[in-house]
Amino acid sequence: MCADMKADIALLTKYSQPGPRYTSYPPAPHFAEDFGINQWRQEIIESQDPARPLSLYIHIPFCDTLCYYCGCNMVATQKYEKAMDYLAYLKREIDSIADLTNSSRPVVQLHWGGGTPTFLKAEEIRDLATHLRNRFNFAADAEVSVEVDPRGLLLEQVQALRESGFNRASLGVQDIDEKVQKAVNRVQPLSMIEEVYGWFRNEGFSSINLDLMTGLPHQTLDGYRTTLKEIVRLNPDRLAVFGYAHVPWMKKHQKLIIQSDLPNFETRMAMQDLILETLEKADYVHIGMDHFAKPEDELVKAQREKTLWRNFQGYTTHRHADIYAFGASSISQTEDVYAQNEKRPDAYQKLISENGLATVKGYRVTTDDKIRRDVITELMCDLSLSRSSIENRWNIDFDAYFADSLQRLEPLQADGLVEMDSNEIRVTVLGRLFLRNIAMSFDAYLNAPKQEAPRYSMTA
Ligand code: SF4
Repeated sequence: MCADMKADIALLTKYSQPGPRYTSYPPAPHFAEDFGINQWRQEIIESQDPARPLSLYIHIPFCDTLCYYCGCNMVATQKYEKAMDYLAYLKREIDSIADLTNSSRPVVQLHWGGGTPTFLKAEEIRDLATHLRNRFNFAADAEVSVEVDPRGLLLEQVQALRESGFNRASLGVQDIDEKVQKAVNRVQPLSMIEEVYGWFRNEGFSSINLDLMTGLPHQTLDGYRTTLKEIVRLNPDRLAVFGYAHVPWMKKHQKLIIQSDLPNFETRMAMQDLILETLEKADYVHIGMDHFAKPEDELVKAQREKTLWRNFQGYTTHRHADIYAFGASSISQTEDVYAQNEKRPDAYQKLISENGLATVKGYRVTTDDKIRRDVITELMCDLSLSRSSIENRWNIDFDAYFADSLQRLEPLQADGLVEMDSNEIRVTVLGRLFLRNIAMSFDAYLNAPKQEAPRYSMTA
């Protein structure tokens, strides 16, 4: 690791502030209830450009137990029949949208997230996957991925996933230290993680991601060094290392985490350094916010070729795909619209039974939103921005249009987080740790006077 990569604690303290993660622009708190089922149905009908591929997302909101750090939309339950009921409604929603979709549009990406998609038993996995393939036109090389909880997983579920066309898996690990695992109510010994990882490798999954987390109770620098060593030994294709966002005012169950058990700011920052150093030595490339991949990975290739994009599914190579998302709380996206489903599974099911769709909020983006979305996304994906390419694409004078933003960037430039010349704005190596702060300079909503600001997690 080069010397300037050592994060300066004073700088991290200075820039640690609440901020969006920019999986959408504007961020989800700006979606409004005046966009509902009728608007989403109309948008699907009017946006059937056969040249635009599709990315599908399925949300399975159920989990066996509650991880105390969880920030997802989920329901902890032991009642498996709930998932059976839910699947019936999910299939109805899939039918409603498939009926409105040009059947020639290829599905290039499918992702099952949650909650815990592997809450579904092997038979239901096959049933839901078959239903999707019957209703949509999957490309032969579609990326088909699933989030996996190693606890309680059976080999037959992995085999059902593979037989159903899944080729990528993301396993939740977070930390291998038992004391940390107990404090967050997610105990999964390393031997279990290794066994499950081996199943996915043996079944021929082409890409395996492991999710880690920092900022959990009882984490120490030494403990995390061990976690990283063991994880690197497994040799996953990708790694995502998220910082725990302690937002008990939004996620009430996070009150179960004892605040005084959380590592302090200095420890978290030292862990951040350790992650960058360890993963760089292990030949992983830092993609941007929280994500790492092997040099031959297509995300790394896309970043090099400036075709990487960012959406609700994280970093993606499918910039021009419309996202059709199914299930409670899921968010769909076309070029012009974001549409979010009802979050509570029972209420979602009621809406589906009455309307076939369950949209409760959304947002139609303005031209200004699209310009800013381009700028923010390019900065977060390419780690650089060409003023002239934005000018040509949107027919604007960049410096005049973004005069306020450029002014807001000046202190970040002075602190060495960005470099600017007459055309390019570049995120420096140090600036990679402050990507959200850099992007926030271009966020018109964040910088506009308003009555009540949405509450975001901290940027560092
Ligand atoms: S398994 Fe995932 S979604 Fe479920 S409670 Fe744990 S972190 Fe949340």
